[in-house]
Formats: sequence, C-alpha cells, structure tokens
Amino acid sequence: MINIFNSLKEIDELLDKHNNYRNNCLNLIASENYINPVIGEYLKSDLVGRYGCYEGLEGEEREYTGNKYIKEIETKTQDLVKDIFKAKYCDLRPIGGHIAGVATVLALTDPDDLIMEVVLENWGHGLIEPMADTVGHFDRVFNVEAIPYKENQTIDTAKFIKKIEEKKPKLIILGSSGMLFPEAVEKIAEAANDVGAYLIHDSSHISGLIAGGVFPNPLEQGADAVFCSTHKSFPGPQGGIILSNSKEIMLKVNEVIPSLVTSHHINRLPALAAAILEMKKFGDKYGKQIIQNSKALAEELDNKGFNVLAKERGFTESHLILMDVSEFGGSYKAARMLEKSQILSSDDFGGPDREIRIGTAEITRRGMKEKDMKKIADFFERVLINQEDELSVIDDLKNYLIKFDNNLYCIEK
Ligand SMILES: *Cc1c(COP(=O)(O)O)cnc(C)c1O
Repeated sequence: MINIFNSLKEIDELLDKHNNYRNNCLNLIASENYINPVIGEYLKSDLVGRYGCYEGLEGEEREYTGNKYIKEIETKTQDLVKDIFKAKYCDLRPIGGHIAGVATVLALTDPDDLIMEVVLENWGHGLIEPMADTVGHFDRVFNVEAIPYKENQTIDTAKFIKKIEEKKPKLIILGSSGMLFPEAVEKIAEAANDVGAYLIHDSSHISGLIAGGVFPNPLEQGADAVFCSTHKSFPGPQGGIILSNSKEIMLKVNEVIPSLVTSHHINRLPALAAAILEMKKFGDKYGKQIIQNSKALAEELDNKGFNVLAKERGFTESHLILMDVSEFGGSYKAARMLEKSQILSSDDFGGPDREIRIGTAEITRRGMKEKDMKKIADFFERVLINQEDELSVIDDLKNYLIKFDNNLYCIEK
C-alpha cells in the first residue's frame, strides 16, 4: 500500500509529532526563528486564497477585481516596512529573500555584466554562482567574481577595493549567511560609486538586528538597495523584501517582479505588519539580548576548548557564531551528531565542511539569557567531546527546555 495521508486526523497526528519534536529541540539554526502565535494566526485570514496582483511602484493599478481593502492592507504594510527600515521605497512581493535577490540582480544588470558576491566557501548564499552552475540560461549571462575574504570569515576590505577598481563590476552583493560583524559598507560604497557599480546588501540574516537598531543599516551607509528575508533574525512570517531610496532602482525592480512572482501570498502581509509592530515594541531589547547571548555562548564554548572563530575580535556582533569543528569530522558530521541529540545547528551547506553555524535568535525569544549559555555549552561538550549516548542528552535537554516559556518579546492582542 502506498503511504499517503488518508484523513485529516492523519495529517494532524503527523503535525503533532512534528510540533512535539521541534518543541523539544534546542534550535540554534540561525536562519529560523520562533514566531509569536499571535502573528502566526494572521496567516490564516481570507487573504490566503486571494490575489493582490498589481502594477506600478506603489501598486496603483490592480489587475484583479476585489482588491478594495487588499490595496489598503498592502499600502499600510509597505509604509510600516519603509518606516522601520528607513527606506523611501520597498517591494514586498518576493516570497523569500532568495527571489528578492534574483529580482534585484535581474533588474540591475545586463547579460555579461560582472557581478561580485560572497561565495559558498565564505558562507555566501551563492545567489549567482550556484545558479549559473545549475541553470544553463543563467550560465550564459552571468559573470561572477568572488569577494575576497581573510581569516575568521571577514572581508579583506583593502584587497576587495583594489579588485573593484581593477575589475569594474556592474553589481556587488555584500552580505552572507555567516555574518559575524558589520562590513565596511561606507568604504565599499565609495569604491563602488567610483566605478559606477551598484552596491546591494543581502541582509537576509541580519534584518531583525537592523530593525531592532542593533546592527548598522546598509541603506544608511550608502548601499543602493537591500534585499532580505523576513524570518531569520527578523521574527516574521517567511517572505522577502527589497528596499531602496532610489526610485530609478525600484522602477527597474518593479518591471522584473511580475516575471518571477505573480501570486505573492498576501496572507503574509498582516502577519508581517504585526511582526513589525512587535519589533517596534521589543526590537531593541530583543536585538541586544541576542548579541549578548551570542557572545556569552561563544565564550562558554571557548572555555570548553572548542575552536570558535574570531576570538580576538570578541567572537561576534550578530545573532550567530561560527565554530571550526574539523577535529570532530567536519561540519556535516558534527551537525548530524548534534541533530541526533536534538540540538539543531547548521553545517556549511556544501562549503569547505569546516565550520558549523550556531544562532541565538530563537533561544533568545524562548527566554534564554547569558547565564543559560553555559548549559548549552555543556550540551555541546557532552555530544561532541564526550560522545555521550543521545538518549540521556535528549532527556536532559527536554527537562531543561521546559523552563523556557516562549513568551518573551511577543506582542499581545
Ligand atoms: C537565507 C538567505 C537567503 C535566501 O532567503 P530565503 O528567504 O530563504 O529565500 C539569501 N541570502 C542569504 C545570505 C541567506 O542567508
């Protein structure tokens, strides 16, 4: 018999299993977050089955009838987004950070233009290169150069600026999935400007920290546009955003979007608006605590003898830390060992198999503070160094997680 769902009950049961499992996992995946159930509720509105197709920068023209209130919901959400990210224009139609990035690149480049990006080796998302490697169409028109990095997964700014002067790219995409510190955006923007290149910041990981005011806003530092996800350090529903202060850039983006997204899942928008209201209220406290927790966790792991990157710079200024786990068989193996004990981290997604990424956004929202980081480091020691049996670790982890009530930094009705 094929193994399909035969009833709603079966669907519910499997979902219950999932919920119970994830509730008892220590989630340190930096690209995920705990979403306030009040915000999650908004995803279930009538909008889940509606279209908000539009034309024009501010959605002036509606292709669909029935958009009387949808237009107002979209406009008000756009205005909130512009307000919190301090941008003149935004586009909320991309349904994720990746598609927001693809739209921006297609809008601002012509075939054969040179694009510089962070490559997978340095925790780049690999917006362009992997796409060109796997899709023939893109391979024909994309031309990519790696942004030069030095130790500790930080950009070699001097070398990078020289490379910009020499290669004269059309577009530069800063930002990665392993950002420990802010980049020298101002300096890089100046170099980009000198050669007529667009400087784009992929803030997918750090958008929550920017919204909380605890990480520099690349738009204010001279980036021409920013694209990001709404569900990593930013605790909103999954989605994407493009931001810019340039009308010219956003008009170009506006032309490209309909070839990539037509149903833009507008049930996200009230949830996104609610998440922004939540960030307006708690973003500062939440953001500061995330960074303090990252530093404290790095410190505790370092005390155990783990090789945490960037010790001499204080390990991190973001929601994540990177740990070289070569001695435990590499990042893929270490992340799977941890997963067996219900500790979720990220391996380097096909990079050099050296570092795991450990994020603190979700545990911060669950209520953990600096003092709790020692306990987390203990769990890492038990799994990776002592190689303890996973059943006893899972048991202790379950008992430990009960203490954390999920209610911190959450807006209420
Ligand atoms: C996650 C990520 C993306 C893609 O965002 P999605 O929301 O998953 O589509 C893009 N860039 C970086 C640096 C990321 O980490």
